[in-house]
Amino acid sequence: MARAPMRGAQVDAVVVGAGFGGMYMLHKLREQGFSVQGFEAGGDVGGTWYWNRYPGARCDIPSMFYSYKWSDELQRDWRWSERYAAQPEILAYASHVADRFDLRSMIAFETRVLSVTFDEAADRWAVVTDRGDEVSARWLIMAAGCLSTPRAPAIPGVETFAGPTYHTGAWPHEGVDFTGQRVGVIGTGSSGIQSIPIIADQASRLTVFQRTANFSVPARNAPLTERVIDVFWKGYDDYMGLVKGPGMGFGGNPVNAPPETAEARQARYEELWALGGAGFLAVWGNLLTSLEVNEEAASFVRAKIAEMVKDPLVAEVLGPRDHPIGTKRICVDTGYYETFNRPNVDLVNLRDTPIEGITAEGVRTSTETYPLDALVFATGFDAMTGALLSIDIRGAGGAELREAWAAGPCAYLGLAVAGFPNMFVITGPGSPSVLSNMINSIEQHVEWIIRCLGEMREADRTRIEADEAAQDTWVAHVAAVADKTLFPRAASWYMGANIPGKPRVFMPYIGAGYRRKCEEVAAAGYEGFILA
Ligand code: FAD
Ligand code: NAP
Repeated sequence: MARAPMRGAQVDAVVVGAGFGGMYMLHKLREQGFSVQGFEAGGDVGGTWYWNRYPGARCDIPSMFYSYKWSDELQRDWRWSERYAAQPEILAYASHVADRFDLRSMIAFETRVLSVTFDEAADRWAVVTDRGDEVSARWLIMAAGCLSTPRAPAIPGVETFAGPTYHTGAWPHEGVDFTGQRVGVIGTGSSGIQSIPIIADQASRLTVFQRTANFSVPARNAPLTERVIDVFWKGYDDYMGLVKGPGMGFGGNPVNAPPETAEARQARYEELWALGGAGFLAVWGNLLTSLEVNEEAASFVRAKIAEMVKDPLVAEVLGPRDHPIGTKRICVDTGYYETFNRPNVDLVNLRDTPIEGITAEGVRTSTETYPLDALVFATGFDAMTGALLSIDIRGAGGAELREAWAAGPCAYLGLAVAGFPNMFVITGPGSPSVLSNMINSIEQHVEWIIRCLGEMREADRTRIEADEAAQDTWVAHVAAVADKTLFPRAASWYMGANIPGKPRVFMPYIGAGYRRKCEEVAAAGYEGFILA
C-alpha cells in the first residue's frame, strides 16, 4: 500500500506492533486523550494470529478465556464456535475488535520500525521506519511480541532444496495444499504438533524430523455449547477475582498436594487427561518444584503415548525423557500421537541420526536422504527478545539495548529498562508473560502503563526511567525464583536455549503476586523508577 512517509510528525506515544498488546494499548491511549501512532510490520491487526496461519493453528487456552476482558460488551457479544478456536476465528476476532473500536485508523501497516533513538534534550524518542517515516514521541511502547521473530536453523544446503520451504510462523496467506506431496516437517513443538496431523491428512507421505520429544496432552476440542458458556459466565467473577487478585501463579500450592496413595494420584491424572488441555499441569501444586512428583506425572503421559501409538519403537521415540513435564510450554493437540499410526507417516529420530544437510532432493541425515517435495520448518522463534533486539534501540547517552542485554535481558518488572527512559515493554522479560494466559498479562501491562502515563501527565512530568539498582534487584529475584523450580533443567526457549549463542537466562517471571507488586510500585509513586 503506497503512502507518503510521515516526516517530522509529533505524537504523545508510538506503539510498535498491532497484535493483542498493541491494539489494546492504542485503544487506551486514545481513550485517555493521548495522540498516538501505531506501526505494524504485517498488513493488518492480529500479530501472532496474522502470521501463524499454518494448518491446525489454534489457541491452547480455551477461547472464552483467551479473549479480551476489558470490555464486558465485547466479551458477551463475541461468540466463539469451539472450545479452542482455530487461527482464522481468532484473527476474525482481532479484526472485529479493530472495527468495533476503530483501531486501524491509528496504525501504519506494512511498516517496520527500524530504529528508535532517545533524545535527552527533549525527553522524546525519534522513531524511524522502513517506509521513511520519522516520528517523534514522548512515550514509546513496545508491543512487538514475544513470539514474533520466526527462526529457521541454518542447516547447510537449505538454499539448494528444489521444492518450497515454509515456516509455521510466516505461513503464506493463500494457504498451502500438500495433496499428493512428500512433505517433511522439522520440529515437534506446539506448532509442529498442531500442524502434523493435518498435513498427514493431505500429504502422500509425511516425514517428521524430531530432535526432542515434547509432552502433549489432548485438547478434547469440541463445539462450544450453551451449557459450557453458561458455566463460564457463572464462574467469571471468581475467575476475574483470581486474575486480578493473587494471579494464576505456578507451583507451591500446598492445598493441591499429591495424595498419599498411588491409586488416588492415578485417578487424578486420568481425570485431568479425560478433561484435556493444559490444565493437566495444575495436577499438583509442586509439579514444577519436585522432580519426584514431576516424574510420576511424566511417566503417566509416556504411558498414554505408549497406549496411543501402535509401534512400540515409535512410541518410545515420542516419549519425552530429557526434561521435566511443564518446563517447556506443554503442547495441546488433536490426534497428534495417533498420526504416527498412519501408514503414510514416518518419524525420524534426529538424536540417533542427526540432519547433516539439505540437498535439492530432500533432507539428508547421517544415514539416509529423505526425498521431499516440500519442507516445513516448525522450528520456533527467537523468543521474548528477538523482536526488540532486531530494532536498533538507543537510549540515554546513546546506550544500545543490544549491548545492555548482551548477557541476557534485564528489565524492571519486565516493563521498563534502565537507561531507556520513557520506553515500556508489554509482556517483557521478567514478567509472567509467556507463562500465563497472555491476554490477561497484556491487559495488566497496558492498564499499568496507561495509569503511569496519566499520572505523569497530571504531574507534568516528561521522563520516567527504571532505576538500575531496582532493576538489578528484580532481575536477581526473577532468577532466584526460577532456580527454586525445575524450569532451568530444560533446554527451552524460555531459557534462550533454542538460539545458538543466546545467553541462557530464564526470561519470564514465575513467582506469585506479580500484579500486586506492580500495583504497589505505582501506589508508592513509581518506586524503583526515576521520575523527572
Ligand atoms: P504479537 O501478537 O506477536 O504481535 C506483535 C506484532 O508486532 C506482530 O504483528 C509483529 O509483526 C509486530 N512487530 C514486531 N516487530 C516490529 C517492528 N520492528 N516494527 C513493526 N511491527 C513489528 N498465548 C496464549 O496465552 N494462549 C495461546 O493459546 C497462544 N497460542 C499461540 C499460538 C501460536 C502459534 C503462537 C506463535 C503464540 C501463541 N501464544 C498464545 C502467544 C501469543 O503470542 C500471545 O498470546 C499474543 O497473541 C501476543 O500478542 P502481542 O500483541 O503481545 O504480540
Ligand atoms: P518450539 O516450541 O521452539 O519448537 C521448535 C521445534 O523445532 C522443537 O521441536 C525443536 O527441537 C525443533 N528444532 C529447532 N531447531 C532444530 C534443528 N536445527 N533441527 C531439528 N529440530 C529443530 O516452537 P513452536 O512449536 O513454534 O512453539 C513456540 C511457542 O509458541 C510455543 O511454546 C507456544 O508458547 C506458542 N505456540 C502455541 C501454540 C498453541 O497451541 N496455541 C501453537 C504454536 C505455538 P529442540 O527442542 O530439540 O530444539
